[in-house]
Amino acid sequence: MHVLLHRVDLAFPGTPANEILTDTATVYLGAGWLLLDAYREDAVSSQKLGYLTPEEFGYVLAKRALVFGEDPSTWFTSARAYTAYVEGRERARLDERQPPLTAAGWAGRRRYARDRRQAQDTAAPAVSSAAPYAFVPDGRGPLRVTFRCPTCLQRIRVPVRGRVRVRCGLCRTVLECDT
Ligand SMILES: [Zn+2]
Repeated sequence: MHVLLHRVDLAFPGTPANEILTDTATVYLGAGWLLLDAYREDAVSSQKLGYLTPEEFGYVLAKRALVFGEDPSTWFTSARAYTAYVEGRERARLDERQPPLTAAGWAGRRRYARDRRQAQDTAAPAVSSAAPYAFVPDGRGPLRVTFRCPTCLQRIRVPVRGRVRVRCGLCRTVLECDT
């Protein structure tokens, strides 16, 4: 994976960020579940699993599973690896349930509607920085909302106008949104 990333000229400044990138790419391109399944832990010792925690391995593995329609949960022989995968999968599923995605839960959509109303009523919209979206006023056109693509985390910006189908410009994932 180091060689591949070097050849395609994908790198971050600094060693730790590149090691995390290498591990993430390894998991995402298919070798992840074997690495995670080899992980063992007991009361006195735990192996080091590259630069990601077991739960982070599980998260990347689950992101891959969502894109490729796989279910690695039945592949594990290690109970610890399975637990880490399930925990990572919960986090990955949460990414798919953030407003303005239509899959967002009731509470998230309600919070979103309140923030949107506030953004529409005031010149300088104030949205909590913890929110997974932000409203951007556009002097001429309609209010816009920005949020991260749940698949590739690229920032997406669309006009606020109700239910729309948005295609991520980077990974081409089609997202059902209620803006
Ligand atoms: Zn994307």
